Amino acid sequence: MNCYMVSLGCAKNKVDSEMILGLVKKKMNIVSDINEADLVICNTCAFIESARKEAIDTIFSLKENMQPNAKLVVCGCLAQRYKDEISKLMPEVDRFIAIEEYKDLAKILNDVCNSKYDYDTEINSLDRVYSTPNYMRYVKISEGCLNRCAFCAIPLIRGNLQSRTIEDITEEVKKEVLEGAYEINLISQDTTKYGYDIYRKLKIVDLLKSLCQIPGDFKIRLLYLYPDIVTDELINFMAKEPKIMHYFDIPIQHSEDKILKKMLRRGSREYMLEMFKKIRTLMPDAILRTTMIVGFPYEEEEDFSNMVKFIEDVKFDRLGAFTFSLEEGTPATKYPNTIKENVKQRRYEELMDHQMKVSEALNKEKEGMILDDCFIIGYDEESYMYLARNYMFAPDDIDGVIYVASRRELELGERIKVKVLDSDAYTLTGEEVL
Ligand code: SF4
Repeated sequence: MNCYMVSLGCAKNKVDSEMILGLVKKKMNIVSDINEADLVICNTCAFIESARKEAIDTIFSLKENMQPNAKLVVCGCLAQRYKDEISKLMPEVDRFIAIEEYKDLAKILNDVCNSKYDYDTEINSLDRVYSTPNYMRYVKISEGCLNRCAFCAIPLIRGNLQSRTIEDITEEVKKEVLEGAYEINLISQDTTKYGYDIYRKLKIVDLLKSLCQIPGDFKIRLLYLYPDIVTDELINFMAKEPKIMHYFDIPIQHSEDKILKKMLRRGSREYMLEMFKKIRTLMPDAILRTTMIVGFPYEEEEDFSNMVKFIEDVKFDRLGAFTFSLEEGTPATKYPNTIKENVKQRRYEELMDHQMKVSEALNKEKEGMILDDCFIIGYDEESYMYLARNYMFAPDDIDGVIYVASRRELELGERIKVKVLDSDAYTLTGEEVL
């Protein structure tokens, strides 16, 4: 039997897909042509309207293109969030598998497509079919979230925090480094809260200490840090430990205390200004990334202009933004959603314009620098240049890339030194230093 899979949504969903295929491959071949598939799996995202639309469009397009007698299975956040009503709404799908059912995946696949998996076979993080290039890996250190931000549906889908043990994560990273991984991206909903559920205290630094003892030449990147628990202990450890990238992905969502309160988020403008200053002082080469929401209920023009002032004061290297969209079942449904879409859009564009100028200026300062930890991620036919990243650029479509000219042929994952010659808001351009 052959299986074809599509994975939508975030890097955490990608890891789930890799684990699901780790089980599937025990009895089926994984194929990249849907016409050869007896089983088609779509792993979905559902945290905002546009993600749900993409999931439903993808499901119908798979149904259209797959073999008529093949089975279609849909899993992930759409299946979890709407598990009660969705199968009635989409009879085209042979089986919706909610995230809470992943432990029974072997039995479910046997029921759906008459395969012969041992019932006690379970998905696990050490047995994945990786979808990322060998030099980089996503490592999901926990699932779910203990926070209840007023706009966010993720706790409704993924539940409360469920951390893996330090031993389990260390064993996975050890294996991946042995297999050649250089960039280890730690992901979760709230990486700073790691371990609080199983160890009754914040354990992210202890986890990092364990990972940094793994022999080998690799680097660790932390994604999804919650501002008010980016502790001095964590900042100091990241500053002194060479294996940890000086990359701070801290989605703050807003800068104004009044709005943070309405968002049911902890922290304050003053605290965050102080935290970013501390990071920049200890690590002048640190990359700061954040995410903002504009147009949240109660956000007045003054709050918005203060937010713009905040991003100009902090000078984030990377900033992504969303216009507020109301999610059913979230606390924000109690708020008056009175800010007009055109106002939200205008604020979004204005914020991104300001950020563009900040990023341009910060990248300009990098011209002339020698970046000695770049790795090749691809080749751009148009510019005849290689594409590379280093600690400054996370592996997703928010962060840009480095364009590199080289007189020799370079391999994917190859590590090189680059002299930066030019820049714009999102990318750096340079030449290989031999
Ligand atoms: S920290 Fe807030 S925004 Fe992030 S997943 Fe948790 S509830 Fe959602």
